[in-house]
Amino acid sequence: MIVNVPKPMEELKELLSDYQGVYILGCGGCPIGCESGGRARLEDLKAELIKSGKKVSGIQMIDFLCNKALVGAQLRCRIPALKNSNAVLVVSCGVGVQATAAMIDLPSLPANNTLNSQGMQGLWPSVERCDGCGDCLLHLTGGICPITRCAKSLLNGQCGGTQDGKCEVETQRDCAWHLIYEKLKALGKLDNLKKLPKLRDYRNWEVSDQERKNTRWALEEEQLYRAPKSAGRQ
Ligand code: SF4
Ligand code: SF4
Repeated sequence: MIVNVPKPMEELKELLSDYQGVYILGCGGCPIGCESGGRARLEDLKAELIKSGKKVSGIQMIDFLCNKALVGAQLRCRIPALKNSNAVLVVSCGVGVQATAAMIDLPSLPANNTLNSQGMQGLWPSVERCDGCGDCLLHLTGGICPITRCAKSLLNGQCGGTQDGKCEVETQRDCAWHLIYEKLKALGKLDNLKKLPKLRDYRNWEVSDQERKNTRWALEEEQLYRAPKSAGRQ
């Protein structure tokens, strides 16, 4: 399970401030287990956004947003609602937000922060990865994660080594910041580059003791069944 927690509502309102029509998309996988998603949260978000003057153009759950083909196939049925939307608010881990951004040309904004799980979680064959930085900034980067896509995990733009849109560290690989620039240009959001945080709080990268108590770690510590001691069993 990829552990993710809701971003504070005030932050969500801020990152949605440029968009009037909002489509809310939820993942039916990990956010259910983490209690950071599910139909009830989507309905709560819808009510909050309507209260703050937004138009909610649609609401949808997809079983696993980390399955890009599934995301594409299921969003295809919702094109009329997406046409009435200026942005998609994605209730999932960072992979789900990136997968959504790869399939549609609307801004895909994270409703959750993904926490670091200290090791590989699940099997994800595509290029979209999440390192669980705890403070997702995909709303600023066109849904492309600089932490996992840039060879140096740079957070404030391209290094001097890129050539023809390729990375200087691995020349077969696209430069992440070139991709981010092109995506933001296509979305008309190049201004986002000026909003990137100058400093990053690396304490978010670590999962707090509190989170450890109420997420996957707690489940793993609980023994579900203890066999009774019998004469033949010590
Ligand atoms: S910015 Fe990247 S590493 Fe951080 S939560 Fe978002 S997708 Fe994951
Ligand atoms: S060339 Fe691009 S992807 Fe490679 S390290 Fe520099 S900024 Fe990152």
